[in-house]
Amino acid sequence: MTGRFEDVNAAAAGFLRDLAYAQTSQPKMFGYKRAAAAVLALDEPLTNLVDSSRRLERIPGIGPASERVILEVLDAGTSPTVEAAVARSPRAADVARRRALRQYFLSRAEVLRILRDPRFDGPTRSDYRGDLQMHSEWSDGAPTLAEIAEACFARGYTHTAVTDHSHGLKIAGGMSMVEAAAQHEAIERLNDSYNGRFRMIKGVEANIAADGQLDLSAEEAGRFELVLAAPHSKLRRSEDQTPRMLAAVSTPGVHVLAHPRGRITGSRAGVVADWDAVFAAAAEHGVAVEIDGDPSRQDLDFSLAVRALAAGCLFALDSDAHTTSQLAYADTALAHARLAGIPPDRIVNCWPTDRLLAWLKSRASSRP
Ligand SMILES: [Zn+2]
Repeated sequence: MTGRFEDVNAAAAGFLRDLAYAQTSQPKMFGYKRAAAAVLALDEPLTNLVDSSRRLERIPGIGPASERVILEVLDAGTSPTVEAAVARSPRAADVARRRALRQYFLSRAEVLRILRDPRFDGPTRSDYRGDLQMHSEWSDGAPTLAEIAEACFARGYTHTAVTDHSHGLKIAGGMSMVEAAAQHEAIERLNDSYNGRFRMIKGVEANIAADGQLDLSAEEAGRFELVLAAPHSKLRRSEDQTPRMLAAVSTPGVHVLAHPRGRITGSRAGVVADWDAVFAAAAEHGVAVEIDGDPSRQDLDFSLAVRALAAGCLFALDSDAHTTSQLAYADTALAHARLAGIPPDRIVNCWPTDRLLAWLKSRASSRP
């Protein structure tokens, strides 16, 4: 794990978020949050965007007050302006709580730097053959299946899984089994039109209930080629939920434990569990653990991925895209995998289509 760190964009965005949450005025709060988001999404480190007279290049979403914070961080690694505002704020305790929930999140610029850095021997973009978590208009995503196929094919993927939410997650427009059957017909027509040049996989993102049970029966899960299991509730509890996660990875037919913690940057820590025990069980059952590349999730991050690697796990590196432009989030997952030193052979996205399909099928037929 060499070559880290100095993620200056993450540091500056962190101070801007602190300043946002220290505000009592909503418009000001949104303004600083927007500035933080703009910094996190930059391709370049801020250090490259300052001219010789210490002026920051014009960046959409960043006003003069935010620019002052950024220049302080570039100069001193901290922001006296923000620290003073936080100290004065009635919301100081909330700011401190949120700060603690930003550990091991990478900015876009840092992700791109890690992808270029030859000191990491993990997967590269060219090793990556297909994304295994994304959402279409069939649940809470925007794109049509055809748009997803076109965008993935244009990225050079040989296959990709659409994993809309299952029927238990009504809030995310989960598909009924009748809708899933109709989606599968649409996917088959689409695959026919690509004539072997691209393969869309019929996936689903099943919901892990508090007791570890999925919202799909074994029979229902068996109608999909790829089953992700992911927690979407009870993600702000401090008590241990190891039994919930152990039950999920021991459920026959599950291929991937997706966004295992359910954490969101600056907002919630997600599931608390004995992750080494969960990873050992996942390895034993042949369930891959996911590195979800959504910038607000980054779940698993490299610090846990190292432990999953030691436990012998397989990995899935996914964008969790809800639009086709978010397919680029796969880069975030690749960066964490590189930091963790995961060999491409342990990453199911790096396998040729036939090997992946054979793995999916072998696990599906192991259902009781
Ligand atoms: Zn999810």
